[in-house]
Amino acid sequence: MLAIIPGANCAGCDYSLLDLGEKAVEVLMAVDIAYWPTAADLKLEDLEKLPDGSVDIVLFEGAVNNDETEEMAKLARRKAKNLVAFGACACFGGIPGLANVASRDGVLQKAYVKTLSTLNPNGVLPSKLTRLGDEELTIPEFLDTVKSLNQVVNVDYYLPGCPPPLKLVADALAAALSGKLPPKGTVFGSMKSVCDECKRVREGKRIMEIKRYHQFIPDPDRCLLEQGIICMGPATRGGCDAVCPTMNVPCRGCMGPTPESQDQGARMLSALSSVVGLEVEAGLGDEEVRKIIEQIKDPLGTFYRYSLPRSILRRVWGARE
Ligand code: SF4
Ligand code: SF4
Repeated sequence: MLAIIPGANCAGCDYSLLDLGEKAVEVLMAVDIAYWPTAADLKLEDLEKLPDGSVDIVLFEGAVNNDETEEMAKLARRKAKNLVAFGACACFGGIPGLANVASRDGVLQKAYVKTLSTLNPNGVLPSKLTRLGDEELTIPEFLDTVKSLNQVVNVDYYLPGCPPPLKLVADALAAALSGKLPPKGTVFGSMKSVCDECKRVREGKRIMEIKRYHQFIPDPDRCLLEQGIICMGPATRGGCDAVCPTMNVPCRGCMGPTPESQDQGARMLSALSSVVGLEVEAGLGDEEVRKIIEQIKDPLGTFYRYSLPRSILRRVWGARE
């Protein structure tokens, strides 16, 4: 039996399953679907009624960012024989986890009051309970800190990516269907970095300037980082066959940190400092190196785009907006 349970997600991981094509049909023929709101007309009560631990594979997609997704994560754990964090959001907090740069109040103020396109003169914010005459309306309550799935419940397997690469999804489903799942705690992905899978040529070149992707057309054969574009390949787990750098797009880091480093941003800073460090060898002083580093736009959002909740920082403490 298979269930796919959404948390704070964009449903992109969900749709990636449909990209499996004929393999998706094979999987659907081989399993009973216990719950999958995107594709099957089953209600949450149907899942709740099943005995605990009776669903062979539960894919939980998305981060945990409100009291409803927190309950869904706990329900997923109760019903699952094997619980899989499916996609970067479930594995590391993902894009929704960037809300951790602000407090709950700061996020709500920005989204509902201070955004330039918002007209909200009374500063009305979403509230868990709203009374309209005799009616009561409730909505989920946003948490102060966005969490990855394993910060709420125990997770058996991790299938990273945004969305996860099809080959890894197919491998994981094949292992589950054949009853040959790897040891619990396994991350479906490579033990190496994206750079190890990338065919671009690295020449040990110095970074003279950090450029943004829209500013020039990079050489299609040379390492993007050595051309001055921030490419997260050195700090990111492989398993995606370096699909983005192959298509001339820098790696954004959606496979999460490499196995030997738990903090993706710190690993990237270290990789970057060794490339810029070559400048020091070239006789540049601290001030010149600082000027190069200051060209990085939004360092936190670049280095922790997918992994802020699972990083050592976890959130920006004391941030208000
Ligand atoms: S990992 Fe990416 S595709 Fe999947 S839910 Fe999160 S943002 Fe969407
Ligand atoms: S930094 Fe990016 S472009 Fe360079 S080798 Fe690594 S993955 Fe490829």
